Amino acid sequence: MRSIFCSTLARHALESQVVYRVGLTGGIGSGKSTVSLMLSRLGVPVIDADQVARSVVEPESKALNMIKSHFGEEIVTEGRLDRRRLREIIFADEMERQWVESLLHPFIQAEMLQRADQQDHAYVVLEIPLLFEAGYRSLVDRVLVIDAPKELQIDRVIRRDGVPPSQVESIIKAQISSDERLKQADDVIENSGDFTHLERQVERLHRNYLEMARTQA
Ligand code: ADP
Repeated sequence: MRSIFCSTLARHALESQVVYRVGLTGGIGSGKSTVSLMLSRLGVPVIDADQVARSVVEPESKALNMIKSHFGEEIVTEGRLDRRRLREIIFADEMERQWVESLLHPFIQAEMLQRADQQDHAYVVLEIPLLFEAGYRSLVDRVLVIDAPKELQIDRVIRRDGVPPSQVESIIKAQISSDERLKQADDVIENSGDFTHLERQVERLHRNYLEMARTQA
């Protein structure tokens, strides 16, 4: 009886902790990191899917052990995942790519949800570059898409990373199209102006999200 009561309490405590989750996505160079930074300056906790993806394969993690059992010891160097080796393998073999992705996504999703629910704020932002491509839609209550004209995306990434335009173009091609992303968006930030123009849109949405989180609670 006591244990049923305790587990009900624990479940209730967990449920009551659920924080309103906004997924932030967009193509390369659209301005995701910039918007995340602006939101975090407004006090919003931002959880970065790329950073979480790295954390779930840290030394001694369950996921890294499973990768080691699958690919063998040569996939680690000094206890750490050899990312370059893994990239080469999955680039050359679609089945292996699918195996790695279906292994890692549940770990990444669980970790993101756990981090989100630990935040003491009305809402949190999950920055997920491949939100639609990797099937993360169900993780969030609302999707915010950052959009920018392709020429601006390319120009900004060239300046940021010093890479050739062809490399940026091939990354853009590998992602879903801007139209497809916009169709599935709940909110859109058009990042085609200057930083002030961007900041104004971020502040307006921030006020909306505070209100949405409040009415949901
Ligand atoms: P993403 O995270 O989507 O790849 P970033 O936020 O890193 O994109 O933006 C790409 C580059 O463009 C960065 O160097 C950023 O400072 C710059 N940038 C973003 N938005 C603007 C803007 N409105 N005006 C000028 N530069 C911008």
